[in-house]
Amino acid sequence: MKTTETCPKCECRRLFVIEQVTQAVHDARNVVPMNVTTLAMASAYAGVADDNQTRAGIGSFEAWVCSKCGYTEWYARDAVTALDWYVARKGPGVRVVDREGEPYR
Ligand SMILES: [Zn+2]
Repeated sequence: MKTTETCPKCECRRLFVIEQVTQAVHDARNVVPMNVTTLAMASAYAGVADDNQTRAGIGSFEAWVCSKCGYTEWYARDAVTALDWYVARKGPGVRVVDREGEPYR
């Protein structure tokens, strides 16, 4: 949809582009980016000098929404570096499927 600027489900060409999907927090007066995920990591990585773990929000989303049928495409933004770091340390809950270099099935 993003590359063709046409909905693949209904062929509508009127699309909403949400450049950064946000969500309300607490009393709904504030909004924050909707993260791709949150990852547990040592506090030291967040600049805190203790031996605890902290959770970091990773990345954000761009969304393309068809104005006719509501079909939506999501694109993760600014998440790959942190996800690569996390997967390299065998963090739970995230895995990689990597078929690069293999013939398309
Ligand atoms: Zn559509």
